[in-house]
Amino acid sequence: MKQIRFVYPFEEADSTDRQLLGGKGAGLARMTQIGLPVPPGFVITTEACRQYYKAGRRLPAGLMDEARERMKQLERQTGKAFGHKTNPLLVSVRSGGALSMPGMMDTILNLGMNDEVVVGFGEATQNLRFAYDAYRRLIQAFGQIALGAEEKRFAELLEAAKKRLGAEYDFELTVEALQRLCADYKRVIQDDLGTEFPQDPWKQLELAVEAVFRSWEGKRAVDYRREFKITPQMANGTAVNICTMVFGNMGEDSATGVAFTRDPGTGENVLFGEYLVNAQGEDVVAGIRTPKPIAELKTEMPGSWEELQRIRRTLEDEYHEVQDFEFTIERGKLYMLQTRNGKMNATAFVKTSRDMVAEKVLKAEEALLRISPDHLEQLLHRRIDPTADAEPIARGLPASPGAASGVVVFDADEAERRGRTGEAVILVREETKPEDIHGFFQARGILTSRGGKTSHAAVVARGMGKPCVVGAEEIRINDRERLAVVSGRSITEGELITIDGGSGDVFLGEVPTVEPEFSEDMKTLLRWADEIRTLGVRANADTPEDAALAREMGAEGIGLCRTERMFNAADRLPIVRDMILSRTAEERRAAIDRLRPMQKADFKEIFKAMEDLPVTIRLLDPPLHEFLPSLESLLLEVAALKNLKSHLEHGNPTPQSLSRMLESAELSDLPAIERLRAEVSAARDGGLIDELLEQKESVLQKVRETAEVNPMLGHRGVRLGITYPELYRMQLGAILEAVAECVQEGVNAVCEIMVPQVTEPNELLRVGELLDEVRAEVEAQHGSRLDFKFGTMIEAVRACVRADAIAERTEFFSFGTNDLTQATFSFSREDAEQKFLPFYVENGLLPQNPFEALDIPGVGRLMKLAVVSGRRVKPDLKVGICGEHGGHPRSIEFCHTVGLDYVSCSSFRVPIARLAAAQAALREKRRSKEEREHADYPFNVL
Ligand code: ADP
Ligand code: MG
Ligand code: MG
Repeated sequence: MKQIRFVYPFEEADSTDRQLLGGKGAGLARMTQIGLPVPPGFVITTEACRQYYKAGRRLPAGLMDEARERMKQLERQTGKAFGHKTNPLLVSVRSGGALSMPGMMDTILNLGMNDEVVVGFGEATQNLRFAYDAYRRLIQAFGQIALGAEEKRFAELLEAAKKRLGAEYDFELTVEALQRLCADYKRVIQDDLGTEFPQDPWKQLELAVEAVFRSWEGKRAVDYRREFKITPQMANGTAVNICTMVFGNMGEDSATGVAFTRDPGTGENVLFGEYLVNAQGEDVVAGIRTPKPIAELKTEMPGSWEELQRIRRTLEDEYHEVQDFEFTIERGKLYMLQTRNGKMNATAFVKTSRDMVAEKVLKAEEALLRISPDHLEQLLHRRIDPTADAEPIARGLPASPGAASGVVVFDADEAERRGRTGEAVILVREETKPEDIHGFFQARGILTSRGGKTSHAAVVARGMGKPCVVGAEEIRINDRERLAVVSGRSITEGELITIDGGSGDVFLGEVPTVEPEFSEDMKTLLRWADEIRTLGVRANADTPEDAALAREMGAEGIGLCRTERMFNAADRLPIVRDMILSRTAEERRAAIDRLRPMQKADFKEIFKAMEDLPVTIRLLDPPLHEFLPSLESLLLEVAALKNLKSHLEHGNPTPQSLSRMLESAELSDLPAIERLRAEVSAARDGGLIDELLEQKESVLQKVRETAEVNPMLGHRGVRLGITYPELYRMQLGAILEAVAECVQEGVNAVCEIMVPQVTEPNELLRVGELLDEVRAEVEAQHGSRLDFKFGTMIEAVRACVRADAIAERTEFFSFGTNDLTQATFSFSREDAEQKFLPFYVENGLLPQNPFEALDIPGVGRLMKLAVVSGRRVKPDLKVGICGEHGGHPRSIEFCHTVGLDYVSCSSFRVPIARLAAAQAALREKRRSKEEREHADYPFNVL
């Protein structure tokens, strides 16, 4: 068997193979090969690391022979010799896996020094101080990393040395002090570990290579990979980079720094970074001295500045991406020590994408693929002003983006009370529950000290588009005392705080925020995205205002307009209740007749706002009891009224005592309370109490009648529409009249009527008959033919299975994946997210929360079944999705692959969906047919 090669010099390695060379090794190889000044060196592959572990932590046979051979080559290249007393070759031994894991693994600098070399090196460089400084750094790093000594032991000695000299900084240490430190360091190793700091450079090299391999399985690195979900497919083992040392600490003409090819904060096309004169690489990160902004290099070392300007162009031309790089200047000569793709904020990603296309560094397609949809999301919300100088007092998990300031309140009732008065409040709780929902409505933001990204608070806040930080564990909340404590500082109710749901930061006081920016750069990018994508993007919008926002965000229609929102408006709810509570058919018709013009007016407004674009209106979906007060609140109210009545009759009522009773009574019917208050202040019972009691008791009875064991699986949607045909008849009439009136007014209303909860084609047949009747009436009345589409939600498992038969009765499908996900798993979202789903996700039983990211193998498979069988019957069947998943990038990619016509999501996710849809189209184009048909292809579900 041919022996595998483990070692590649920078000039020979295949720099596209990051898996084998690691990111750092690949970068060093590439820079060497395109002629950038990299100190000579070589890479030991990640394969060697894997073999090391396979062999039970033993260096693979032949590895060190290969490495020694390469070292000989390095000696020839540099004209130095490893371990030579006056002309020593010194190297760094650096870790680096396929993915960057900053600071998680180890690097040893100045390797090759020993007691003799340090003297010779000092003489050769005419700088003994410098030589001993390098040596003590080696002993310490080697001691810790390769031999396992404790950092603290070295730190103590260093402190003591500085103290003796009255020195503040390391660089003030004298030669003698450094010599003594070297001796002390070696003694620590001897005493603590019973072993000697190896004087043989070759021994040092071998131990260092092994130590770098070991750092791959070090606690820091393992934790990091778990946290960021780095799998062995993504990065498996570390490479070791052996690189000739260059010294930025050889005097005032030497320096070291890190830089970006563009400003990663603004995206501006300028060199950005920092450097330190007379320092070694690690000093910049260590924060021992404050580095200078790179612009100063222009006057301080103009030659190197010019060279960096050239290099920055070269790097971007080569990588088609902004680079983040390390450099060192040794006596005026510049060396490159590392390069990788720059991490930037959202603004910078958007700006550089547009600029780099204009500069022809990137193609538009590449520019679109390099931005993650999450980046856009950051820009679409109010953010902390980047120039604000504020220190967070705590950090939790970023659960729902956006920044908000407000006064702290510790429960939902208080949030509601203060919110109603117009005060900006932040609801702060250990965790939230469904009964806190009224507090959410009134809060500007939500902060919890417990729970993860799928906790109740997170899910609800995201749904409402409100900023939310969860799991800020440093904050201890005591809602009885109405107090929160964070690092010794207490926060009382009413104090101002600011939260940033995009970063998880929590600040005291009001921190300035900036408006979301729909910048020109972003608009340009989204225009490119629109040209590339084939998937339509619509918005879910229930009101004319929502519709206007949707249009502004680039929606091509409304994929879901929920009519129940209109029922809930303050002026409608009483009529809806009358309708539900009506005892006779006449009463019901009267209530319905009052609703009809209101609904018609709403629909007309929406059609107008969306002129020329389709509007999908869903007929009433929720069970009726949702429009009635809850059983608990009614029971409390009835009890309170009875109590009041008996106090009036048998007690000794004074206006004060009655008023007090009213204050504390659990009455939620505000207008009634006002009337009662007037009556009660006169301490008399004018019969209002009896009237209210009777009213409440009849509602109570109706609530009991409509109560269901499983309301979400009960009398709702099309089932309600079929058993109470007046209701759907009224809605259909209102919709079609709105269309007819729009036509008369010259407005192009594109109407799509959608039936919810369908499981059986016969249901559509029934509603279709109703529709035909209503249509005939409206057409006769207006003397014109009406144009619209009739379709159905697909949100029941049976609907997916019977999709072919259902398709015969409809013109379009729209997947309601929230309900479909519940139906497919047979668990309710609220219960799942409250009780067990976080555990499932944390423990890997499910890869993600299926209510956030579409469950492709389960729900996705049903969707595909429905699409395929529906289109078999009706090839031009239009299919969309209007569940929350319609705004989730990977789910959108699935929708694209499975052939949907459009996704529909909340307005503020529309830009994200536009980008995600373009990315889906681009990625599909890049995949071959075989790949797409391969069984492992995640979207290949049938
Ligand atoms: P990390 O991955 O933690 O950045 P590196 O391997 O890049 O670790 O090295 C740590 C520091 O040492 C960096 O500042 C780097 O520039 C510097 N460094 C590494 N190798 C050399 C070398 N051969 N000459 C000079 N400085 C070096
Ligand atoms: Mg580095
Ligand atoms: Mg539904």
